[in-house]
Amino acid sequence: MKTLLTEEQLREGIRRMADEIMHYYADRSLTIVGVLIGSVVLLADLIRLLEIPLRVELVQARSYRHGSTRPGPLVINTDLLSSNIRGRHVLLVDDIFDTGRTLWELIPQVDELGPVSVRTAVLLRKEGRCAVAIEPDLVGFDIPDQFVVGYGLDYGDLYRNLPYIAALESDELAEESSR
Ligand code: 5GP
Ligand code: MG
Repeated sequence: MKTLLTEEQLREGIRRMADEIMHYYADRSLTIVGVLIGSVVLLADLIRLLEIPLRVELVQARSYRHGSTRPGPLVINTDLLSSNIRGRHVLLVDDIFDTGRTLWELIPQVDELGPVSVRTAVLLRKEGRCAVAIEPDLVGFDIPDQFVVGYGLDYGDLYRNLPYIAALESDELAEESSR
């Protein structure tokens, strides 16, 4: 396992994201919608830096099968949204933008619920992977195309609790070696 972003680097990046969010949403009724499960660590750190009124909501999007680094079918659950987002400005917060499929499919579903705007913020974006016609509005860090874990991101449901971001080496990716 190789550290890609240290705790210190993450802190600085999230500070930059928070400053941009506060600037943009200063006079807008903001609802932050975290995408479970990967965004929980980012969400907790990010919202505590935001000194503006905001609501926090969650949705769930799953595409990774247990123990796999390759996406399976995408399942989205917006039923977790507990308060009305009609008339509010929604910022979707996710851990990583890889192919972009998750946010690409999530945005129209959230849009159907009547918010004034829907924008996206991700901690990480993988270089050269985008397969859809959108890019995130706010990106913490661009990273090389490697499978990463930590700070909310898992491999086989493990590693989410690491306080830094690390890339798994090929011998640590069981399934990859048998490709
Ligand atoms: P996308 O739909 O953009 O291809 O993928 C987004 C989702 O796939 C992320 O929210 C995350 O759950 C998962 N994902 C993509 N790349 C990685 C990665 O390098 N590591 C981990 N742990 N999950 C990833
Ligand atoms: Mg995810």
